[in-house]
Amino acid sequence: MIYLDNAATTQVRQEVLDAMIEYMRENYANPSSIYQNASCVKVAMDVAREKIARAINADHSNEIFFTGSGTEAINWAIKSIAYELFENRKHIITTAIEHHAVLHTCKYLETVGYDVTYLPVDEYGMVTAQQVANAIRPDTIMVAVMMANNEVGTIMPVAEIGQAIKKINETRNREDRIYFFIDAIQAVGHIPVDVNELGVDLLAISGHKIYAAKGVGALYVRRGVKLMPFIHGGGQERGRRGGTENVAGIVGMGVAIELAIKEMQAENEKQTALRDYLITQILEKIPYSKLNGHPTKRLPSNVNIIFDYIEGEGILLMLDFNGICASSGSACTSGSLDPSHVLLAMGLPHERAHGSLRLSIGKDTTKEDLDKVIDVLPKIIERLRQISPLWEEKEGAI
Ligand SMILES: *Cc1c(COP(=O)(O)O)cnc(C)c1O
Repeated sequence: MIYLDNAATTQVRQEVLDAMIEYMRENYANPSSIYQNASCVKVAMDVAREKIARAINADHSNEIFFTGSGTEAINWAIKSIAYELFENRKHIITTAIEHHAVLHTCKYLETVGYDVTYLPVDEYGMVTAQQVANAIRPDTIMVAVMMANNEVGTIMPVAEIGQAIKKINETRNREDRIYFFIDAIQAVGHIPVDVNELGVDLLAISGHKIYAAKGVGALYVRRGVKLMPFIHGGGQERGRRGGTENVAGIVGMGVAIELAIKEMQAENEKQTALRDYLITQILEKIPYSKLNGHPTKRLPSNVNIIFDYIEGEGILLMLDFNGICASSGSACTSGSLDPSHVLLAMGLPHERAHGSLRLSIGKDTTKEDLDKVIDVLPKIIERLRQISPLWEEKEGAI
């Protein structure tokens, strides 16, 4: 099997698995208990918290809160800020190409009285800091922008957006300030993320995109930002997030993030070369194909290509038949027949947005894997075009 869907999820790496097993078999105590076994579990969680804080250059590890997923971290961040300030201000700014965890949270908030601006993006899936600044109103409470897009890999100018927000905040009273939230789930562990450089208040992380387990995430909350509890219960996570902690998952995420930071530069160089090789070969070998997303401001792992006159679903089925795992959009939309909201927002018409293929490279991807794709993909596209009514129409017109 050739796995090229690392943007959807990654395989738990051996070092992570080893660390996790220890905290399920030997050190399985509840971290809230008072015996010695339990305190060593608590220490292990604090070590993971420190590793995550260090990975994003947070000032202090108590700015990191563990969650049950990236989606939970996103919901918590956005709803917490919104609810805190609802009385007098209710405007949120986000972009049209966010993950559904952000978009559907914003859609929900609209149903309970908030006003959301979904900033349009350019053909590469990019927003500018100027667009954000122009959208800010006196009642704006929050800006939520992703750092890197999970479908097309475009890396957003989040540091400039942070600067623009900071500049406007300098003209406001502290209680009227605008909060800046970043969904950094595709970025952390893959490209450098520095919360101070970004000027971000809240930032979401997920374990399973960085070779840790599914079902564990974290929310960075800058000191001084008031965060309401989202899951009410016991005193875990300093009373902010009830529920006995996913200790093994948390410990594993700490190990994963530390390794990802250590290996980042080498991985980026390797994956960028693989990515560019795959893009060049596909575009060269297959007519009427086009790269989606920004050509250079792009995740080293992301290849997203559109093939005119056919549907992405057909490509996925035939790749699967050849032992190749890929995706047509995000994991959440690939189960449905709707075209990707990201590609539509980038201005692609419905019928073209249907023909997209995302191949996301991981740390274990080899050139041989890509050569297999480069070998079978042109044949797949040709066959699908032969049976496509759109292709027939086009050929007839020539
Ligand atoms: C995967 C992903 C999420 C959701 O994270 P989960 O841990 O799967 O809930 C949110 N945003 C982006 C950009 C993602 O890639």
